[in-house]
Amino acid sequence: MTNVSRRNFLTAFTSSVLGFGLAKNVKAGFRNKVSTHNGSSPIKVQKYNILGKTGIKVSDVSCGAISFFEPNVLRYAYDLGVNYFDTAEGYMRTKSETFIGEALKDIRKKITITTKHGLSPKVKRDEIIKRVEESLKRLQTDYIDIAMVHGVSDTSLLEDEEIQAAYSQLKKDGKIRFTGFSTHNAKLTLNQVLKNDFAQVVLIIYNHMEGKEIEPLMAPVHNKGIGIVAMKIFAGGRHGNLKSLISQEVSYPQAAISWVLSNPSIHCCIPTMSSYSHVEEYVAASGKSLNRADLNVIAEYQRQSNNQYCRVSCSECLSSCPNNVAINDVLRYKMYFENYRMEKEAMQYYAALPKSKMAINCSNCSGYCESSCRFGLKVKENLIRAHEILRA
Ligand code: SF4
Ligand code: SF4
Repeated sequence: MTNVSRRNFLTAFTSSVLGFGLAKNVKAGFRNKVSTHNGSSPIKVQKYNILGKTGIKVSDVSCGAISFFEPNVLRYAYDLGVNYFDTAEGYMRTKSETFIGEALKDIRKKITITTKHGLSPKVKRDEIIKRVEESLKRLQTDYIDIAMVHGVSDTSLLEDEEIQAAYSQLKKDGKIRFTGFSTHNAKLTLNQVLKNDFAQVVLIIYNHMEGKEIEPLMAPVHNKGIGIVAMKIFAGGRHGNLKSLISQEVSYPQAAISWVLSNPSIHCCIPTMSSYSHVEEYVAASGKSLNRADLNVIAEYQRQSNNQYCRVSCSECLSSCPNNVAINDVLRYKMYFENYRMEKEAMQYYAALPKSKMAINCSNCSGYCESSCRFGLKVKENLIRAHEILRA
């Protein structure tokens, strides 16, 4: 393994154990491979897919970098065959891009980098170009393979003249190769993407708890030649707290990865790789078919999480709230805080909401949102807890 000192390994591993909440599961559930960390790992990516008409060959198990502890973990992922790395200007307040640059600059041509920029309708062409150029500096590269607009809920945003002009200029200048967007609203945007040409790649939420509804929309997008990348594949990441998953034959993350990759429309998935253990555990699921043991683990996760997990792509209860609280966003930030252990980022996201959308008045309300949730979540209680932990 390249550049990984024992001290760095211990730091990252300890951080993972102490900080990320997944290690219990890694230790007990990830039984089928031997960890080496010394360059002779038997674990390698087994399958690569062509990312639609981009023609780029990507590892089926790829790497999300929303939160991690040090660049050498990413390098280790590359050593095991991962060649697609997803980041964003906003992840870890730009540090994610910086870490990717540090870890991977000398093998830049062998990997694919996606980064994302959140844009508002009022954004100007020059501002977008400047922000992309700043990403290039942090990534220590002169081109981005796939530049995405972050968090698009309606693709009409992408028809904005300033946005179109900026990305077309960046392509002309060779600073980006392809464009796309990430979305929490695939029910709408996967339909829209069939009618516009901005996106060569889309990044969508797809997991065993909220993937079924969008499945009919995926094949036409795939058939149009658009690359489809799956995120949030661990359905809330609650597995670190579910004891009944520990003694299972496969680990929950491996089962969840196999479930996602069993859909032929998906080109790759991007679990966040925060530790060496994650890298090995997730890469070990590459190329595997979904089997009975995976389905048993998934069924158990669903049994325990069905009325606990606020589906990220759902907004069904929003109209029931007289106070206009951003219920699904607030519960997503709570998930980042508690399950992803991204406390600072979660608090920042919450602080960026307009006050009117925060869960400030939930404790004085009858909880109309609760009867609107067909999954039976204790919405009010969760929102009160969210406000407690997320407020500055
Ligand atoms: S508890 Fe009341 S104020 Fe809070 S989100 Fe639900 S309906 Fe809205
Ligand atoms: S609380 Fe229930 S209805 Fe509301 S967004 Fe979450 S899953 Fe959907």
